[in-house]
Amino acid sequence: MSLKIYNTLTRTIEEFKPNNNDVVKMYTCGPTVYHFAHIGNLRTYIMEDVLEKSLRYIGYNVERVMNITDVGHLSSDSDSGDDKMLIGAKREHKTVLEIAKFYTEAFKKDCERLNIKWPDTVVPATTCIDEYIKIIEKLLATNYAYIAGGNVYFDVSKLKDYYVLTNHQADSMVVGVRDGVEQDDNKRNQNDFALWFTKSKFEDQELKWESPWGYGYPGWHIECSGISMKYLGEKLDIHCGGVDNIFPHHTNEIAQSESYLGHKWCNYWFHVQHLNTTSGKMSKSAGGFTTVDSLIEHGYNPLAYRLFCLQSHYRNPLVFSEERLMGSVSAYKKLIAKINQIKENKTGNIDEDKITDYKKKFTSALENDINTSLALTTLYDVLKDELLSNNTKLTLIESFDTVLGLNLLTDDTESNSIDNEFEKYIKDMIEKRLTAKKNKDYVTADQIRNELSQKGVTLKDTPNGTEYSVN
Ligand code: AMP
Ligand code: ZN
Repeated sequence: MSLKIYNTLTRTIEEFKPNNNDVVKMYTCGPTVYHFAHIGNLRTYIMEDVLEKSLRYIGYNVERVMNITDVGHLSSDSDSGDDKMLIGAKREHKTVLEIAKFYTEAFKKDCERLNIKWPDTVVPATTCIDEYIKIIEKLLATNYAYIAGGNVYFDVSKLKDYYVLTNHQADSMVVGVRDGVEQDDNKRNQNDFALWFTKSKFEDQELKWESPWGYGYPGWHIECSGISMKYLGEKLDIHCGGVDNIFPHHTNEIAQSESYLGHKWCNYWFHVQHLNTTSGKMSKSAGGFTTVDSLIEHGYNPLAYRLFCLQSHYRNPLVFSEERLMGSVSAYKKLIAKINQIKENKTGNIDEDKITDYKKKFTSALENDINTSLALTTLYDVLKDELLSNNTKLTLIESFDTVLGLNLLTDDTESNSIDNEFEKYIKDMIEKRLTAKKNKDYVTADQIRNELSQKGVTLKDTPNGTEYSVN
């Protein structure tokens, strides 16, 4: 086992050495469940899934924990702006808990459709309040934290190297000089962050708990430290997230965890670069985000999007456009068609030596800082290799797919389920168009026809009803 991986903490590619060779302790920052995850968020979860599956493929056991943020995450990561869960609850006239339940289920469904394994332990932040209180009490007792204006803050000036993860000049990260970030006058230092709120501008905050500092709720950062320590212990091997989590979220997690524990907490930090649109970062707040549902509505198999992600390295920003996705859609169809041909002709002996050689090649691609495009090249090499029997190829494809997660060998009925979803969508649209026409709402009827046409669906009105064809 000789995995080399880029570590944000040291800004170098390092040999991966877990604290205990038998099991890797892995923590993933989970979603804030106030809206559907966009496919940018899901790029991060796909690559974290590939990391976990690569670790297992290489030979490690993995114990993985992920939180679900259902409290405390404000629209600016630096304790200002609106509470994201409240934004969701107001938008949909529901309670925060209803919103959390709905979008947690939606996220789970997205993961299933993208073959993202649900981590062993998934923990809603609202279930670990005692853990946060325990940590905050000790941080106060040891003077790493202070109370001001009813809230408890972490004092970043107590640390020798608060910026250990970022390598940024302190000044450029200071709250108050970044655009759109409000100043909190309670804070002694501009980058101090809230551990517990009792007084904030969110008097309508729905979820509150008793604490030694009054009735209130935790800040966002403390949840990942608390959940990680509760379920994975005092030493973590690898912690993951998107690059926007590096500052302030992960920086603050390190600050509070190591001050609490009195020793180093996590050895490796794995960050996935963003998925961008042609006009900038994909984000929920900017609107117009693409979800797994919208991929399906456009007739795209979500696994073609997974392939799109695997074709690039996780440390490179990735630009998403429908045209670029089409390339992966076509590559995915060709891949499955090629494998189906092999499946139809299951012949030849299994060549164990060749299997060992190709598995080594595949493993070394993964060990090379999770080089998924090189791993895919190994798959294509197998498909092309005329000296391999079909049975040998199928054995290798099955093995590689435990990491790639592309349903390469799934039988046709299952892989057709995406087509069934698209078909259902077309039929729904035809039904809506019929209703519009009955109501003499020809504008809507034409809009529906155009929308379908843009997705390659042509409608034909016949005496027996509306028929359609897909290009
Ligand atoms: P959130 O639900 O906002 O807490 O984000 C969930 C995960 O998605 C975090 O790990 C973020 O770092 C990550 N993320 C947010 N935006 C993007 C993006 N455009 N591309 C890739 N990952 C992202
Ligand atoms: Zn986190």
